[in-house]
Amino acid sequence: MTVKKTDARPFVIKVPEERLMTDLETFREKALELGAAAAEIIRASRIVVDERVRLKCTVPRCLRAGETPNCPPYAPELDVVRKAFAKFSWGILLKTHLEPMENYTPKSGREQNLLFHKKSGEIVYELERLAYKQGYHLAMGLGGGSCKDYLCRGLICQFLDSGRCRFPLRARPAMEAMGIDVVDLISKVGWEAYPLLDDPGQIPCAISVGLVLVY
Ligand code: SF4
Repeated sequence: MTVKKTDARPFVIKVPEERLMTDLETFREKALELGAAAAEIIRASRIVVDERVRLKCTVPRCLRAGETPNCPPYAPELDVVRKAFAKFSWGILLKTHLEPMENYTPKSGREQNLLFHKKSGEIVYELERLAYKQGYHLAMGLGGGSCKDYLCRGLICQFLDSGRCRFPLRARPAMEAMGIDVVDLISKVGWEAYPLLDDPGQIPCAISVGLVLVY
């Protein structure tokens, strides 16, 4: 049998350090090209999974808790999350800026707020796909917010209703649903986030954060 010549990369189990760093930089630059305001290569060991973050989905109860399979109480158990994350070494952390600020406050229109995490979610999806295509078969992307907002625009969850998600490859638990302390993580790379207040003039910029664990 003749083996066809191709540019496709096979899956990689052990990646030489130099190639890994080159690939991570390629993914970081891709995040910027796709519209991220900033992106950083981070060690997975910097991620903190904290029960308090997960509890904040239900205390006080987020509107989306129980409304999708990606939100608590259906999101993966934190023990599983911790064990899985401990097996990753590197990832890409990215953020998008939400502008203009007036569009993203509690007083803004419902439709606009549903889209708060849309852009970062799209970048996460594209980066995860790229990493997979480059041979990183366990690449895993997580965004912010609920898929019921940024994908299904508030419509009833079709997965819980009929077992068929409208966006099976794009829908995923939010970082916070996985217990990741996002505020802690972004502070480690020098980024800031502010509480969303009624007066947008007090906030320099709102951000949405995404994470793609690569290897
Ligand atoms: S149908 Fe919509 S809300 Fe339900 S899991 Fe899929 S993307 Fe999320």
